[in-house]
Amino acid sequence: MKIHEYQGKEILREYGVAVPEGKACFSVAEAVAAAEAIGGNKWVVKAQIHAGGRGKGGGVKLADSIDEVRSLADEILGMTLVTHQTGAEGKEVKRLLVEEGAPIKDELYVGLVVDRTTQRVTVMASSEGGTEIETVAEETPELIHKVSVDPKTGLTDAEAQGLASKIGIPSELVAEGGKLIQALYQAFWDKDASLAEINPLIVTDDGRVVALDAKINFDESAMYRHPELEELRDLDEEDADEIEASKFGLNYISLDGTIGCLVNGAGLAMATMDIIKLYGASPANFLDVGGGATTEQVTEAFKIMLKNSNLKAILVNIFGGIMRCDVIAEGLVNAAREVDLSVPLVVRLEGTNVEQGRQILADSGISVISATTMADAAEKVAAAAAGA
Ligand code: GDP
Ligand code: MN
Repeated sequence: MKIHEYQGKEILREYGVAVPEGKACFSVAEAVAAAEAIGGNKWVVKAQIHAGGRGKGGGVKLADSIDEVRSLADEILGMTLVTHQTGAEGKEVKRLLVEEGAPIKDELYVGLVVDRTTQRVTVMASSEGGTEIETVAEETPELIHKVSVDPKTGLTDAEAQGLASKIGIPSELVAEGGKLIQALYQAFWDKDASLAEINPLIVTDDGRVVALDAKINFDESAMYRHPELEELRDLDEEDADEIEASKFGLNYISLDGTIGCLVNGAGLAMATMDIIKLYGASPANFLDVGGGATTEQVTEAFKIMLKNSNLKAILVNIFGGIMRCDVIAEGLVNAAREVDLSVPLVVRLEGTNVEQGRQILADSGISVISATTMADAAEKVAAAAAGA
């Protein structure tokens, strides 16, 4: 799960990470009031969307007066912000963060990720902040320093200060910088984050170390431990079809191909997407209906897939293990009657009661292209999509 920068900064502040004073705003009037309350003579107006690269896209601007805060807030609120992470269609800006402007001396980078290979949290730090870290990793990988954290000890003083000093934090600020990185690690650990990125971490003209940006993602599987995080969810930023699917207990991910996939089991769903690719087509979604899908779930799954204007054909690939094929077939028939099935439907059933299942489909009068093997199914659905 993703959250906004201002929400991430609120969490970090609780852990003692230095962040600029700021306030989330939903209107121009609120932005002006926030700037007045913050005081000073330099402010930053920042678009809040779940994507990075906002600065380059025109979503982060500096203001020297309250009037300028007003006109920038007016310009950025409601704009469609396009960044390298939003796709060409961009994202409408509905929230702003107004902050005190920070006097930047140096822009650095700190990021934390879960490393599946070592089964530890890796802390990465670099002197090359403010730019895309992917570019640094490609062109000057020696400028990225890493620590793989032992979960028993946490990030030690020596490790944190070692990173702080390697990325060029001046010696008199290394202790402070080390503390900040440790606080960041603690927040990451306590909140079951999957990723945390401070880009840039800055050294200011007046000798402070401050997190100027904050991107934090959380492990969805740990959300039951964090009701306080659930409240931070912004459904405006999430895929409408995925939200709808989750209401029906369906694991659904939107993709950009043309073949709708309805599969039981995540492994089979992955394999189905692979074989569709192998036969020259491309999946429109990942969908795992689970081991015990009901008629209602299958119907909803069809409705969600059919909303997609790119859809050219649907492939149903079900292995009847615990789930019997005749039950699935009945569900399919009911679902197909309830929705207007406007694209070719290829069905592959295998497993318990497969003969009854095939018979139910054959007797239903629904136009079904039936398939035997995975390869057969993929070939047929690719052909059906090409012909449609
Ligand atoms: P991103 O582009 O989405 O990653 O947004 P950031 O929050 O990282 O802001 C982009 C850039 O704006 C930063 O790298 C800074 O160079 C600049 N910036 C952001 N806040 C301030 C500030 O308070 N003062 C100054 N001088 N520049 C800032
Ligand atoms: Mn940034």
